[in-house]
Amino acid sequence: MEFQVCIDPGHGPGSVNKSPDGRYEEQEFAMDVSQRVAAILRGHGVDVLLTRSKDEFPSLGERCRIANAHPEIRLFVSIHSNAMGGGGWQTPSGHMIFTSAPGENEDRNRAARAILNSLEQAGIPLRKSCLQNQKFTVLTDTSAPAVLLEHGFHTNLEEVEMLLDPAFRQKLAQADAQGILDFLGINASQPNQDRDRVKARFGLEEQTIDYLEDYKYGKELLSKLAEGGKT
Ligand SMILES: [Zn+2]
Repeated sequence: MEFQVCIDPGHGPGSVNKSPDGRYEEQEFAMDVSQRVAAILRGHGVDVLLTRSKDEFPSLGERCRIANAHPEIRLFVSIHSNAMGGGGWQTPSGHMIFTSAPGENEDRNRAARAILNSLEQAGIPLRKSCLQNQKFTVLTDTSAPAVLLEHGFHTNLEEVEMLLDPAFRQKLAQADAQGILDFLGINASQPNQDRDRVKARFGLEEQTIDYLEDYKYGKELLSKLAEGGKT
């Protein structure tokens, strides 16, 4: 099978990366959000490869080999949450993304910016310095452009409450997927979504929408009206 995107759910079962009170496990969060992102992307016709299942804990090298076996992959996205050492709850918070090295026009950094823009538009709180470079194995040993997302800090009590919330996870997944689609140049707004947005925004009846859509430039008009209604 040909894949366009590889999603790498960080860590795996038995990982020590947890919130100080043990309610939150980074590996479980990473798997859940990865599956949500993959589902949204597949809904837009993007074939997604995951580096692990729920029960697996591949090494960093294995994750790279899994992705590199598919040279057609255009983007590798590793999903994590961050931690601040010192023990107990800590104050640092906010979402951010890593790539291996600078280079404004490199695909890895274009993808990172697309995802950050999407997170910002969704109202996800970003860290001050939200795009940073680190030589993480999954960023340096992957042949596809690669990014690593740190979705907030699981050492921050307020963020743990959000990271445990399924509705917030879905919001994150939507934003990640939107950024990935933007990077791939795929228009995520389907006619039906436009219909729903315009209906909600202007309080229109179903038949008014039908009428609008039948109009010669109806599709474009709906898309424009829907665009203005996105929050
Ligand atoms: Zn991690």
